[in-house]
Amino acid sequence: MAQDCLFCKIARREIPSDFLYEDESVVAFRDINPQAPLHVLVIPRRHIEKISQLKREDGDLVVRMITAANRIAAEQGIAESGYRLIFNCGVDGGQEVYHIHLHLLGGRKMNWPPG
Ligand code: AMP
Ligand code: ZN
Repeated sequence: MAQDCLFCKIARREIPSDFLYEDESVVAFRDINPQAPLHVLVIPRRHIEKISQLKREDGDLVVRMITAANRIAAEQGIAESGYRLIFNCGVDGGQEVYHIHLHLLGGRKMNWPPG
């Protein structure tokens, strides 16, 4: 837990957010600046700054994040039409919040290559 981390505060419900899912290890909420009709962030409750810091000892944390995203996609009706899952890592990866988060984007056709 990091006192001043925005996403830790959201996970602790100190900052209001539009939650779509939570369990003992992850929480998911709508992105405040959505880039697609459905744009959700899935985060671990535990503070980890960057996906590059993830270790084998972290076990199934990322699987839990991805399966949470899959579940939300199904609940939101985009499992069949498809969606994109993204981790931005570091400056060149476009990361702005340094608490790892999985972007779930869907509800429209995504572009490739990404910008
Ligand atoms: P990234 O650039 O990968 O670090 O993504 C950070 C994301 O957090 C951006 O898509 C922001 O729109 C989003 N964001 C920032 N503040 C909030 C907030 N208070 N609630 C929900 N999403 C947020
Ligand atoms: Zn944090």
